[in-house]
Amino acid sequence: MTKTRVKFSILLAIALGAAAQPPTPESVLGYKPGADFHLATYDDALAYFHKLAAASNRIKLVQVGKTTQGRDWWIAFISSPENLAQLEHYKDISRRLAVARGITDRQARALAHETRPIIHIDGGLHASEVANHQHTIQLGYDLVAREEPEYQAIRQNLIVELWFSINPDGQTIVANWYRENLGTPYEVSPLPVLYQEYVGHDNNRDGYMLNMLESRVITKATLETQPLVFYTQHQTAPFPGRIYLPPFADPISANMHPLMLRWLNLIGTTIAEYLDDHGLTGSMHQETFDVWYPGYIDNVGNFRHTISFFTETALYRYATPHFYTVDEFPAARQGLGEEMLYSSPWRGGWWHLSDACQYMYEADMAVLGLASKYREQMTYNKYRAARDTIEKFQQEPPFAYVIPREQHDAPTAALLLEKLMLNGIEVHQSSSPDEWVILMGQPFSGLVKELFEPQVYPTLTQRPYDVTGWTLPYQMGVEVHALTTPLEKSFRDSLRPIHEITGLAAPFNRGANASYRAINQLLAAKGQVLFTGDLIEVLGLDPSKRDPILRENRLGAVPIADGGKPIKPARTGLYRPWLASIDEGWTRWILEQYQFPFTSLYNADILSGHLREHYDTIIIPDLSERQILDGQRPGTIPERYAGGLGEEGVQELRDFVDAGGTLVTFNNASLFAISQFKLPVDNVLAGLRPEQFFCSGCLLTVHVEDAKNPLTAGLAPDTIVMFERGPAFNTRTGFKGAVLARYPRERSALASGYLAGPDHLEGRAAAVEADYGKGRIILLGFKPQWRAQSHAAYKFFFNALYVAKP
Ligand SMILES: [Zn+2]
Repeated sequence: MTKTRVKFSILLAIALGAAAQPPTPESVLGYKPGADFHLATYDDALAYFHKLAAASNRIKLVQVGKTTQGRDWWIAFISSPENLAQLEHYKDISRRLAVARGITDRQARALAHETRPIIHIDGGLHASEVANHQHTIQLGYDLVAREEPEYQAIRQNLIVELWFSINPDGQTIVANWYRENLGTPYEVSPLPVLYQEYVGHDNNRDGYMLNMLESRVITKATLETQPLVFYTQHQTAPFPGRIYLPPFADPISANMHPLMLRWLNLIGTTIAEYLDDHGLTGSMHQETFDVWYPGYIDNVGNFRHTISFFTETALYRYATPHFYTVDEFPAARQGLGEEMLYSSPWRGGWWHLSDACQYMYEADMAVLGLASKYREQMTYNKYRAARDTIEKFQQEPPFAYVIPREQHDAPTAALLLEKLMLNGIEVHQSSSPDEWVILMGQPFSGLVKELFEPQVYPTLTQRPYDVTGWTLPYQMGVEVHALTTPLEKSFRDSLRPIHEITGLAAPFNRGANASYRAINQLLAAKGQVLFTGDLIEVLGLDPSKRDPILRENRLGAVPIADGGKPIKPARTGLYRPWLASIDEGWTRWILEQYQFPFTSLYNADILSGHLREHYDTIIIPDLSERQILDGQRPGTIPERYAGGLGEEGVQELRDFVDAGGTLVTFNNASLFAISQFKLPVDNVLAGLRPEQFFCSGCLLTVHVEDAKNPLTAGLAPDTIVMFERGPAFNTRTGFKGAVLARYPRERSALASGYLAGPDHLEGRAAAVEADYGKGRIILLGFKPQWRAQSHAAYKFFFNALYVAKP
């Protein structure tokens, strides 16, 4: 460009009233997003978006909160300046239509005509799927700066809510890890830590439970904007597909409005058509991924009538390219034949990060194009789905769910109610009887039914992709009653809406999980705590210090001294392998939440020995024997992260238990203990074929056998546990110890979800305390802390975290 021409364009810009030219991503980052061997951190992306927003009135940045690691988290709204000036007005319309109250169908049509709907598009949360958050940088720029009719129409008709990443911490962790290893033999090596502080890849499975800060930030913002569409990017597609799109695999939930699924399918095939039209082949549908589990953050919105979905674009590793030949394809697809739902097969060749970014980008454009065209009808359908849901449960059961305030574990019941409120569910309080009531004639009540009812998995040939049962009242040990007849007017009139749980003061005993948090706080405050069975007493602490702790934990009754055994916190170690164990992360999060003191034990800590001098209890989360022994394979990852415990580490654990330590093993880690400690215990499910026994995650009833054992204190006699591809036990001759819990005899243990071959579990041990030397090993054949949902089972390991005071 000559000097005169530069001057002229500046003058023209001033004349047109524009600020500065929006900067291209390349001019700020120094490379085009998606370029080989380059990954932008979240901070890089954010710095770019700030510059973009400073130069254009078509984009508005908003801070939505903070991440787990404390990063400031921003999102962008992109539209025409006129639409952005009225952003609050359009958000208000979205919320009014979403609840379908106080408006007629006619008014809804008029609002749908008037409004500029909000479309959520995000850069994903699985941080190793790097194209997710790299591609949003270019998308942000183009939506703001490009002038072709396609982009103009989007700005005119829609408001794009662009979350350039929904896991800012992870984006930075992965980009830094890749930069560190780039050009070394470890360029594509796996990340040895979780890319979300506690839950790593499970961060998209916290959609209704909202345990993680990130899930709460997303849900809160989403309830505020009530987007029409919620689209999350993922990698990787079933090979050799290049992108996996709706229609998804069956089964589907019965509690979603059918219109959500109709639009989902239309969106999926629209993306495929748009990609083929742009020369991008290999769109695939319906294989592998079902959306049976409502906990996906990119699925749960369907129950609030936001069309919510994900797509999976092909991934090699990080920003490193790869060349694929057809003979690497699965045999059935080497012929490159066209199929009904894979009609433009991919033929192999290079796959660069830029390719993945381009597929995602064009998929976003296809969705925005569709929404721009059909915005009125889609908006009206969102209203209609809410209206239909309200009407449905005014006419058919359940008419309401009732939750008594008096419970085995009342503070956990309160927690359940709080979770629902965070999900936008309305809760009422009845004064007589004293109970919480959820009226089902409300817009998002499909979600309540989905979370409260036992799941009945349909008989299908395809095995489930994730868990099949999650019934929250079961998992949390909360008594809930469904009302199957219409509410009487007088009862209904007596209800008052509540927005927080107040005034709960449950008995301070070991039935309540909150009591354990209180115990840990009382011990930290130098109080003395004594146990007698389920009873707890506290000595040596002034009521002015003791009572606020109890109140904070929703506990009331002040315990009366009657001579129990004084206890102290166990010196607890939690095994933390370099395999980025999600189960370890969930466990660590729960221990922190309940304020148990503990130390993370890495391989080197266990190998350095003298464990008994420093620890009373060591927890090994759900890992296979191989994973524990071998860890990451040497040569695939930088030396300091390679290897597992090996024989040497196992010997340190044997010495630890032999000298009086307690080893607690979750799920498949129990098999490691049985084999390495040569315990006279068998896994009765070993060797069974999937046709004989299969469970990818369902809720089972266990009966607590040894009610006097301190390890079972506070557990309900029949407790529900999450069984997920785990073992079940049979004790052999020579076994010393106790069976803590057993599956029912002569009936199926299944409470919710899908279980093939239930007879294999009948009467079998689910939890065992095995003596070993002066110590013991607690084998739990299930996940006692599953996704921080199965509160009813927490005590199976909480009770092992105290020791008697000498
Ligand atoms: Zn993913």
